[in-house]
Amino acid sequence: EPRVFSGIQPTGIPHLGNYLGALQSWVHLQEQYNTVLYSIADLHSITVPQDPSTLRASILDMAACLLACGINPAKSCIFQQSQVAEHAELAWILNCLTSMPRLRHLPQWKVKCQTQKNEGSAGLFTYPVLQAADILLYKSTHVPVGDDQVQHLELTQDTARLFNRIYGDFFPIPRGIMGTSKKIYSLRDPSSKMSKSDPQKLATVRLTDSPEEIVLKFRKAVTDFTSEVTYDPERRPGVSSLVAIHSAVTGLGTDIIVQQSRGMDTAQYKLTVADAVIQKLCPIREEMQRLQREQGYLREVLYQGAQRAKEMAAPVYDSVARLVGFR
Ligand code: ATP
Ligand code: MG
Repeated sequence: EPRVFSGIQPTGIPHLGNYLGALQSWVHLQEQYNTVLYSIADLHSITVPQDPSTLRASILDMAACLLACGINPAKSCIFQQSQVAEHAELAWILNCLTSMPRLRHLPQWKVKCQTQKNEGSAGLFTYPVLQAADILLYKSTHVPVGDDQVQHLELTQDTARLFNRIYGDFFPIPRGIMGTSKKIYSLRDPSSKMSKSDPQKLATVRLTDSPEEIVLKFRKAVTDFTSEVTYDPERRPGVSSLVAIHSAVTGLGTDIIVQQSRGMDTAQYKLTVADAVIQKLCPIREEMQRLQREQGYLREVLYQGAQRAKEMAAPVYDSVARLVGFR
């Protein structure tokens, strides 16, 4: 029986990259599959320092955001990762199967440890193993993720194979479902991906940004000194990243976008892209603002989600504990 699993960290309001690379496909998948789990990955979020009251608020904000994007709690199990203790328990077992060199080359560790003092925490280093545990805990078969997660998913597949080799065939090998759009890049630095935890305010377009904020961020987006609009990610990453965003929010191909933009200079074009993004995000923003006032409802959704997730996780973890020799 197919099972879909994915997660998002409560590290701030989701951005355009999260939406186009992941959340949008999450909404479609709940129509296509019977068992769909979406986790608010709070255990992952503390791999870098988090202020407790900010984290507490971000968890509820993320629940509101998922619902505002169209995730339906009657179809998808939305839950908070730390409420299902088996995530951490399975992660420990998988940590003991994973070699240090296998983790050292993974991209997010390299990027995120640079921004931390002392190279970051041990948790940050083994974070992809916790991600493998998240997925395998439900014997998931399909994992929708953005382009930035390909190598982490490969680690999950390798870990499942390794476990199966040692303890006998147990975990299905999960397959990735890549988002319809490519990776979305920072508006301040077209060589790095857009991230929730980017400290540069103008780099990230959030789902709750006002139209004015969106216009400002696109106006300040980094491009080059050529005024023409072309799509050439290698040589013109800045403007190409805008074309990619424009293409993703309108559903039109990059070639059509470029054709339509003939005669515009990049300054004018930025406003066109901002406009298309505003159209796309406006309904989500309004629904999000409504849901943020319904804290009791959000807590109830998370509580119910955790109950359902526990029911699915418990028998899998039980079998793992037995296979490993704990029982
Ligand atoms: P953080 O900076 O805290 O790691 P993030 O923006 O990377 O936040 P995550 O919670 O780590 O977001 O990832 C949630 C989902 O969004 C994942 O499926 C990931 O692949 C996808 N995603 C994240 N950033 C992008 C991006 N720039 N473009 C496309 N997809 C993305
Ligand atoms: Mg991330």
